[in-house]
Amino acid sequence: MDRSNSDSLTVASCLQITDLPRTELRLLLSHLLQQSNSWLIAHDDYRLTSDQQKQWQTLIQRRQAGEPIAYVLGWRGFWDFEVKVTPDVLIPRHETERLVEVALEALTSQGVGSKPAILDLGTGSGIVAIALTRAYPQAQVMATDFSEAALAIAQENAQRLQASITFIQSDWLADLPTKLDDASMRFDLIVSNPPYIHAQDIHLQQGDLRYEPSSALTDGEDGLSDLRTIIFESKRWLKPSGCLWLEHGYDQGQAVRQLLEEAGYQSIQTHRDLSDHERVSGGIAPLSALTL
Ligand code: GLN
Repeated sequence: MDRSNSDSLTVASCLQITDLPRTELRLLLSHLLQQSNSWLIAHDDYRLTSDQQKQWQTLIQRRQAGEPIAYVLGWRGFWDFEVKVTPDVLIPRHETERLVEVALEALTSQGVGSKPAILDLGTGSGIVAIALTRAYPQAQVMATDFSEAALAIAQENAQRLQASITFIQSDWLADLPTKLDDASMRFDLIVSNPPYIHAQDIHLQQGDLRYEPSSALTDGEDGLSDLRTIIFESKRWLKPSGCLWLEHGYDQGQAVRQLLEEAGYQSIQTHRDLSDHERVSGGIAPLSALTL
C-alpha cells in the first residue's frame, strides 16, 4: 500500500505529467523505450521495468529543470535528417534551413556543375555542411570549427549520414591548410552561421540558450565581429563568381550588407526567414579578390 507512483508507471501514466507538453512526453518516452509514437498509442498499458522507470524520472527531471529537449534526447531534426547534439554544439534552428535553401539556390544559379567546392565555417553539429553534401554528393566540402569537441560531433554525424566532408580545426579561415596564392583551393561557395548575438543580449540568459555553448551564440562583443572577420577573410578564398552567404540576427541585415559592400562584394542580397525577418545575406566575390 506504500507503493509510490513510480513503481507502477505505464505508458498512459507517463503521458499524464501535466507540466510538460504532451508532444515532448511522447518524444521522451519513444526515446526511452526505443519505440515509435504509434507503438505508444497501441500499448498505453505497457508497464515500464524498474530500470526504465528510473531512467524516465531522470529524463523528466532534466527537462523540468529547463534543459533543452534536444540535449535531453541527444538529437534534433534538421532539413531531411537527424543529427546528434550535445551541449558542445548549438541546437539546429529552422532559420538555418533558410541558409541552406539560399546556398543551394546560389549554387544552381552559378551553374557550378555537380562537384562544387564548398566551405562551411563554424560547422557546429555539421548540419549546414551535411545538408549541402546531401544535395551535392560529389562536392568537395570542407567544414571548420574552432572547437575540437564540436568537430568530433560533426564528424560523427557526417559519418553516420555518409556525407563526405573534410573537417578542419580552424579559427575561421586562419588555419586552412593551403597558401592563399593557391588558386585551386578557392571555393564556389562559403557559408556560415556564426555567433551573432550581442554579448549583452538578455536572451542569452533565457530558455535553451542558457544551456548552449556561449561561444556558438555570441562573439563576446557586439554580435558583428565574427561576421566582419568572415566577410573580409572569405574574399581571398572565393573563386571568381563564387559567393558568400551568412546567417545573421533579425536586426543585422543592414549592418551585414554594409560590411559586404565595404569588402567589395557584388550583387549583395538579403533573404527573409519564415517569420519575415531579414536572416541571410550574401553576395558574389569582389573582383579585386581575384588579384590577391
Ligand atoms: N553551423 C552550425 C549551425 O548552424 C553551428 C553554428 C554555430 O555554432 N554558431 O547550427
